[in-house]
Amino acid sequence: MAYKQDTICVQGGYRPKSGESRIPPIAQSTTYFYESTQAMADLFDLKADGYFYSRLANPTVAAFEGKVAELEGGVAAIGCASGMSAITLLALTLCEAGDNIVTSSAIYGGSFNLFSVTLPKFGIEGRFFDPDAPAEEIEKLIDEKTKFIYTETVANPSIKVLDFDKVAAISKKYGVLFVVDNTLATPILCRPFEWGAHIVVHSSSKYLDGHAAALGGVIVDGGNFNFKGNGRYPAFNTPDESYHGLVYADLPSAQFATKCRAQIVRDTGAIMAPQNAFLSWIGCDTLALRMERHSSNAKAVAAYLDKHPKIDWVLHASLPNNRYHALAQKYLPKGQGGMLSFGIKGDVHQAARFMEALQLITQETHVADVRSCVLHPASTTHRQLTKEELVQAGVPENLVRLSVGIEHPDDIIADLDQALAKI
Ligand code: PLP
Repeated sequence: MAYKQDTICVQGGYRPKSGESRIPPIAQSTTYFYESTQAMADLFDLKADGYFYSRLANPTVAAFEGKVAELEGGVAAIGCASGMSAITLLALTLCEAGDNIVTSSAIYGGSFNLFSVTLPKFGIEGRFFDPDAPAEEIEKLIDEKTKFIYTETVANPSIKVLDFDKVAAISKKYGVLFVVDNTLATPILCRPFEWGAHIVVHSSSKYLDGHAAALGGVIVDGGNFNFKGNGRYPAFNTPDESYHGLVYADLPSAQFATKCRAQIVRDTGAIMAPQNAFLSWIGCDTLALRMERHSSNAKAVAAYLDKHPKIDWVLHASLPNNRYHALAQKYLPKGQGGMLSFGIKGDVHQAARFMEALQLITQETHVADVRSCVLHPASTTHRQLTKEELVQAGVPENLVRLSVGIEHPDDIIADLDQALAKI
């Protein structure tokens, strides 16, 4: 029976047998016991499902992977140590030296750095496009060495909404994998596989956990991309000598996820910790409720700020004057999430004074958990940039990033109001 998202949030990924614990136990064990050598050999040969070493798979991590895979509508998922490790494992599963990644430039700073600085050191090139550019401009970047197109549903921190149809059409035309970081939308607000994506990644440290308690990442395989015979992916179509000569494209399902786990998770060990998987599994119980509240709170806050005389501009796709409003109506109809940014009239000092005057909303580098928080990039994460460089990076000096929590909206607005009154 196919359940609704709200039901999967609380029941997904773990079905206890009679007498077993109702929620997933924390399998705090590196290793697992088997009575026969054959039973273990079958696991190594991928002939049977099970666990042999927690660097590859763990029952608590599997419960979380199962819940996220069900929520996204994918066929398999891999729990990773962090969002960044998920994106790194994704790239290493698909690319080798000489390959390239065609990526939106409107992505999380850590991902931008991975594609522009770190992976190029290993011969993997990141080619950046403006997500608002026409398809022809993006297509110019694709060649036979392009292994995937990378995007974010709702970009952090620019809050741009992805035009899925545009990217899906390019992916189809060139037979190239379409990857979406769905961290800020979550599968409650948008399910990228329904719009042509093949792989979804998450920083589960954000809304999935939701409580700022557990670092983690997830890669979800949509099972909707057939690598068989696709000349762009020789590594999927030739035997993996490091894994008993397995040809991943010959597998009936989860070709990507199998290669990722059997080869790259095995060799890097960047898997999620059981304790973090447990916290993230429980965190997801309330995901549907939380995303509804994050979205309605952010919509109310955006409307309030939009009318305030001391505010220069506000970015949130719920606002009818927002450039991405129409895209959000199509791809995020249930709500546009809790992230917004705005500019305070005046200079960098006004913005800093405003931040210091806040009482309920705290200053943090984190985003997307239950507590409202703010960040002023010009005086923190981006403080080394000049005024001109800040504008080029899309973070003008008066920009404040606000992650709207699930407190009562009146209290959030009252805090903003008293802080604005002080500048
Ligand atoms: N993707 C997005 C959209 C993010 O916002 C972040 C972190 O903020 C990451 C990936 C990286 O995740 P993590 O901090 O869990 O490594």
